[in-house]
Amino acid sequence: MAQARVVILGGGFAGLVTARHLVKSGVVGKLCEVTIIDVGKAHVYTPWLYEAATGALRGETQMSKAKMLEMCCFGYDRLPGFRHIRFIQNRIESVDLTAKQILLDGKRQIPYDVLVVTLGAEPNYFGIPGLPEHALVLKRLEDAAKIHEAIVRLVDKATAHNPKYITIAGAGPNGVEFVSELANTLRILERREKLETGAIKISLLDPSPELFTILAPSLRKRAIKRLERLGVDLKPGLRVSEVSQGFVKAFTATGKHQDVVQLPADLCVWSAGVKFNSLVGSLPFLKDDRGRIVLENTYMVASHPGVFAAGDCAALVNPHTERADPQSAQVAHYQAHDLAKNIVRYIQGRPLKVAHLPKRWAFFSALGGTVAAGTLGGIKFWGYSAFVLRRLSDLYYFYYLLPPFSALRVWLEGVRLYHKNDR
Ligand SMILES: Cc1cc2nc3c(=O)[nH]c(=O)nc-3n(C[C@H](O)[C@H](O)[C@H](O)COP(=O)(O)OP(=O)(O)OC[C@H]3O[C@@H](n4cnc5c(N)ncnc54)[C@H](O)[C@@H]3O)c2cc1C
Repeated sequence: MAQARVVILGGGFAGLVTARHLVKSGVVGKLCEVTIIDVGKAHVYTPWLYEAATGALRGETQMSKAKMLEMCCFGYDRLPGFRHIRFIQNRIESVDLTAKQILLDGKRQIPYDVLVVTLGAEPNYFGIPGLPEHALVLKRLEDAAKIHEAIVRLVDKATAHNPKYITIAGAGPNGVEFVSELANTLRILERREKLETGAIKISLLDPSPELFTILAPSLRKRAIKRLERLGVDLKPGLRVSEVSQGFVKAFTATGKHQDVVQLPADLCVWSAGVKFNSLVGSLPFLKDDRGRIVLENTYMVASHPGVFAAGDCAALVNPHTERADPQSAQVAHYQAHDLAKNIVRYIQGRPLKVAHLPKRWAFFSALGGTVAAGTLGGIKFWGYSAFVLRRLSDLYYFYYLLPPFSALRVWLEGVRLYHKNDR
């Protein structure tokens, strides 16, 4: 019997976990062949990107800078445990759902029997003038490298008499992790007398009047204090309206004209939201109000048998909350693992199972150095214990993705390398 051709669009968290589960369940090479198509040549472990973007700012060797970036990257051609999976590095142009073919850049066509859409999300600029040209985002490895270079340039030039300004727009989990690690690293440089005190000024803007609402109230208060102690100027209730060379314009969230403020910004980092992937946008699937693919409770795309989706590009209603779960690596990992089991059932012609989603998700946010905050199973954690738990979640992911020894090695190397940023 011919093997089913499973094609996974996107080798991010959801795509790789799906493939890995198919390998582990022993169906690859027997019941199906699996192809992953991604525009990049490596999977990027985004939870470590903020470390790479803010580490090794002064006096460190080029090698350690490169290593910090490399650490977040898993080259598809070198992934142990994926030996029977075919990777194609190419931009996916379109999908012909009738002919069941993927059209690649370069006009190559890849046929499929089962399609898995895990294309993630893209930064959302909300049409704000000047934002795409003058702000940097932290999404891919190249972004981390660009932000790193920009910070190094400012650190080299800044003095207490001629301070430089870094503005981070968006106090969601990514913005908070980035700003805290950056502030912590700069304070360490000041202590080591490699940077004059007050030479770099950091501010964090968010339209919401209350910051860090994702954290429990008691943790939120401590997180605010922590960032203030690290010297971050917190500016809640400010919505960015324009970005130009050297400044950011924002208005109070009430939107009154007289409340417009202009803030100096030698570097602006935009971390205020994501939108649907543009290829997903072009596909004729049912979408929710945020452009995510609406799924049936089996991960099947509504009205498209044999087409599945998971991760940031998908909206699967969680029966416990009656909403789609947040876009996060953790959710993408969980969904992909669950989805892969249904792919096996689909190939075997067995009935699909209803998605089994947890009531609540653990959440941890790094707050610079070895401090973090978060909740696991309803229990709140703060400080070093939260930091350790967050690091253990990295290990959990690597352990799922890679053979045990490789997972431990990658994790230990990362922990050791990024720990250098905190000393
Ligand atoms: C800086 C940063 C830090 C984060 N930290 C955390 C964290 O600590 N914890 C957490 O839970 N979440 C975190 N997230 C969120 C997390 O990264 C995402 O939720 C997760 O990546 C979603 O997984 P995914 O598989 O849906 O999409 P992705 O991982 O984004 O994968 C999508 C893949 O599709 C590919 N692709 C897209 N379009 C095309 C195309 N046209 N052709 C070919 N390939 C294409 C992309 O190259 C990409 O590899 C962070 C995100 C960022 C940006």
